[in-house]
Amino acid sequence: MDLLSDLTAAQREAVTHVDGPLLVLAGAGSGKTRVITRRVAYLLGRGIPGRRILALTFTNKAAGEMRERITSLVPDHGVWVGTFHAICARLLREFGPRIGLDRGFTIYDQPDRLRVIKSVMEQLDLADSGVAPEKVEAAISRAKNDMLDPESFLARRGDGADHVSAVVGRVFKTYQLRLLESSAVDFDDLLVHVVSLLRGDRELRAKLDDRYRYVLVDEYQDTNVAQYAIVRALSVDSPNLCVTGDPDQSIYGWRGANLNNILEFEHDYPECKVVRLELNYRSTKNILRVADHLIRHNRRRKPKELTTGNPEGDPVELTTFASETDEAQSVASTIADLVREGEYSYGEVSVFVRVTALTRGLESALRSLSIPYQVVGGVSFYERIEVKDTLAYLSLLNNPKDNVAFLRAINAPPRGIGKVSLDRLLAFARGRGIPMLAASRDAASVAGLSPKARSGLRDFALLMDELGALSDHSAEEVTRRLMSLSGYRDYWANQPKGDGEDRVANLDELVSAARQFDLEHPEATVLDFLADVTLSSAVDRWKDEGGAVTLMTLHAAKGLEFPVVFIVGLEQGLLPHSRASESDAELEEERRLLFVGITRAQKELRLSHCRIREFRGQRSVAIPSLFLGELPEGPIVYRDRSGMDGETTLASRRIGPRPDSSRASRPAEPPAPSGSGFRLTTAASLGGGGRSASTVDGPGDDLAAFRPGVLVLH
Ligand code: ATP
Ligand code: MG
Repeated sequence: MDLLSDLTAAQREAVTHVDGPLLVLAGAGSGKTRVITRRVAYLLGRGIPGRRILALTFTNKAAGEMRERITSLVPDHGVWVGTFHAICARLLREFGPRIGLDRGFTIYDQPDRLRVIKSVMEQLDLADSGVAPEKVEAAISRAKNDMLDPESFLARRGDGADHVSAVVGRVFKTYQLRLLESSAVDFDDLLVHVVSLLRGDRELRAKLDDRYRYVLVDEYQDTNVAQYAIVRALSVDSPNLCVTGDPDQSIYGWRGANLNNILEFEHDYPECKVVRLELNYRSTKNILRVADHLIRHNRRRKPKELTTGNPEGDPVELTTFASETDEAQSVASTIADLVREGEYSYGEVSVFVRVTALTRGLESALRSLSIPYQVVGGVSFYERIEVKDTLAYLSLLNNPKDNVAFLRAINAPPRGIGKVSLDRLLAFARGRGIPMLAASRDAASVAGLSPKARSGLRDFALLMDELGALSDHSAEEVTRRLMSLSGYRDYWANQPKGDGEDRVANLDELVSAARQFDLEHPEATVLDFLADVTLSSAVDRWKDEGGAVTLMTLHAAKGLEFPVVFIVGLEQGLLPHSRASESDAELEEERRLLFVGITRAQKELRLSHCRIREFRGQRSVAIPSLFLGELPEGPIVYRDRSGMDGETTLASRRIGPRPDSSRASRPAEPPAPSGSGFRLTTAASLGGGGRSASTVDGPGDDLAAFRPGVLVLH
């Protein structure tokens, strides 16, 4: 296939740029990802060996798609296409020993990490410190993303560190020691360790810079400090670094992403070539107008035109519903209609939510109409207990020092070994400086164990030896054998009907996943299978099965596109999220998040909100999102399906803003004083600066007609 014929002149310019830094700065849907894949194929065509090229993205799904596209252009290319985390895991398997990390290290995912943090907090007598483990976890993760170790974290806080920082600092330090003793790293460490390697070992940095002569990064606007450091370190001697990004789609600030990385690329590489892509190829004119109008309300941005040669398309629909149940039912029946009319298939439809908890209601509505769907980012397959238990066995086989895996596997199925026995075993193991699994072999020497616990521990150690002997068998074989030899599958199979059945089905599904992995990676070991499943995040497991509606969070939707998009729950407290109500910067990130959602839509976009929402067990009046007041009138049709027009509008006059809140369940308050015309009274609840208390001062043709419930006509 001709690599260049279906590209615009600007895209072609980016694709054919070979040496030297390149920045592709462009709006949503303008072909950035297309440029990256084509450019890889182009470089290969120029005779650059695949192993010299590194293409980085943020999700395995995006990486998989990219790999597929490259393979379709150039089979057997040998290019390393993957996520930052995956390349870091790979580099650490190769070079980890240089910084004291075992090659067989275990990767702890988020629940594993929380488990360790909780236990550290218990150990340090901080369980009652009033600081939630989740908060400590988030703070540690954030610190790592900013490249801070426990010492520098505390130093930065200074002597007068507040209570929370002091707690975090102490936990952080012990937590790192725990990881070290278990030969484990968490997701953030994958990046941090690679940065340390690259910074501390000049010769290695130069070697890797040479190995990866061409580095390409998609979605560069979401790189954090550590990712930035890695990319820079790999592009010193051969600065053939190509990054693409859209500052308006930066949505990971809360996780440490640094928008400046893209804004300052030209400063980092003064000789860089900059290509701007102007035209959107994805969406209709109407959809794009809505997106464009919304994002103009962000102050911290470089103005940019979003245009498309695509048709006008249908107007965007915005609907008010009485309750979340009505909203969910309407979404489901609209999808059923669209498919019945033959216009779209289920697989072409996606529903986005701000928080995963909102998918449950949608799921039941879809189920009641027998609409096939898949949830991305909910409790995913790999987070289910039975799957995690099985993977813990694999982790332990791979890394016998992994105490977290040990503690998980030891009672899966229950072996009658209680917490007290395990604490004694741990103390014994610590005393001797050995892992818990090794200590179990010597259970007879552990003081204070019951005979049952003793034999349980010994049997477990023997089982692990038996499984260890299988390590060179296929992933499928090892997985299957461990489920049967451990008695774990039988344990669930013998449970009373209901729960057990599902779990057995999931275990069988895991065996199929291993089989699939063996087929796709004939050379790989069970260890690679383990790394593969640990690294996939929720969105990565999303399979484009064609026949199912996708439910996902707005964050997970980044980079994707769908002919039909629904975005539900456009209410204060949800979008913008109540957590993001503290500063203008956070509010702008929420606006970008909605912008990302809107720009996923190719042909149809439907937005909605409810008057009343039951959320987390609380039923409350919901205030429409302040962003709805920032949409343009022309390309939108508005429908009120709440059936409460007069009454609620009246009642809503009493729903006023509270400076400290963005959730709706607050007592009534009179609307803000006014001049003339419409006032969006919710704005004050989130503005936190810049904007005047009661008005939204966006472009003049904001969706002024859309005001039920929030706008008060004076
Ligand atoms: P996002 O910012 O959302 O990541 P993007 O800039 O990466 O978007 P792509 O996903 O590469 O955009 O492209 C958007 C859509 O437009 C895709 O369906 C792509 O195939 C199509 N497209 C891009 N360039 C062209 C072109 N020159 N001709 C036809 N279609 C194109
Ligand atoms: Mg893209």
